[in-house]
Amino acid sequence: MTLLQWQDKFSDEEACRQYLFDQYWPEGFVCLKCQGTKYWTVQRSGRTAPVYECAACGHQASVPAGTIFERTKVALRVWFLAIFLIAVDKGGKSALALSRELGLPYVTTWLLHHKIQQATAERNRRYKLGGLVELDDAYFGGVSQSPWHRPRMAQASVVGERIKTRSSSALASRAKAIRSMCFLEAVPDLKDPTVKKVLERRVETNGVWLTDGAPVYVSAAQEHQAEHKVTLSTDPQAEAVFHWVNIVISNAKAYIDGTFHGRGRARRQLYFGEFTYRFNRRYLGTGIADRLIVACLASKRHPYAT
Ligand SMILES: [Zn+2]
Repeated sequence: MTLLQWQDKFSDEEACRQYLFDQYWPEGFVCLKCQGTKYWTVQRSGRTAPVYECAACGHQASVPAGTIFERTKVALRVWFLAIFLIAVDKGGKSALALSRELGLPYVTTWLLHHKIQQATAERNRRYKLGGLVELDDAYFGGVSQSPWHRPRMAQASVVGERIKTRSSSALASRAKAIRSMCFLEAVPDLKDPTVKKVLERRVETNGVWLTDGAPVYVSAAQEHQAEHKVTLSTDPQAEAVFHWVNIVISNAKAYIDGTFHGRGRARRQLYFGEFTYRFNRRYLGTGIADRLIVACLASKRHPYAT
């Protein structure tokens, strides 16, 4: 879908609202309290979004309630456009670029961007990597060369990528491996308990792990009942073995360096969330934008209204 087609599809608030309604209740309205399916639409004064009132029990529901769209003062059409721009731009969109393109104050687009990133991060947390997984750690950031900025300390991250292969003999067919899904997690340090917590959250048990043999992966692989294949970083084969995870790291670095200039692990993790979300759905083309709306609809309410 092109930008023009997207704008035609979501040309006004009613079209956007109907889309959210259809995603929220794909089988039609169902009352959360009594399961009734008949409803009235009630337009309250002073509110832009209507509420849907169950005809049987009077329970009221509004589609964006409890999500990042709740209490928004920004038109849904603008939200949808921001979602499209963020989803389809492979290099990512900064809040500043969004501000220029949407003609909104920077503070507004910063919050929109922040909330959409939060939705991507929440979505990513639903999945664990299984099967053949490359695992490594990497440092992002580092010392700034700019005389205008304070030098920044490099921040540690744990990176994993599930590799899909065409044959059951995983290693033998590595050359034909197809990149699959990845995770990136910003961590305060690379101590064993920290790394193990990440692996617990992000990697399934009983897989096959490819690592450089760092002690933490050796013991974590045992705890995960994973088959562990070690290639030392000094091994001439290392470059080929860690080919895909290295590509993820360098792509993520290019993206982070281009769009993220702040400090702090929480902020960095939101950027990782956005990068990972796009990376793992890169085969969807512009279809990723529809998915991102659904992810936003499934996300939790944010304490700051936009
Ligand atoms: Zn009801």
